[in-house]
Amino acid sequence: MYRISEDCVACGTCLQVCPVKAIKEGEPYVITPKCTDCGKCAEVCPVEAIAPATPDSH
Ligand code: SF4
Ligand code: SF4
Repeated sequence: MYRISEDCVACGTCLQVCPVKAIKEGEPYVITPKCTDCGKCAEVCPVEAIAPATPDSH
């Protein structure tokens, strides 16, 4: 799944594009396990705070 870094400025854009509503509001925003790795949120994030994460990175 994808992860959101502390660079997130809480703009809410990723939340609007996620097709499976896997993103939760917060500071920073958080991506839940519902994420299907579609990559749409990473494309729209204005500060490039979203990137793919390997399963064992957390
Ligand atoms: S990669 Fe796709 S499914 Fe996962 S959080 Fe981003 S928009 Fe949602
Ligand atoms: S689009 Fe980027 S900056 Fe905006 S809420 Fe999502 S992760 Fe944070």
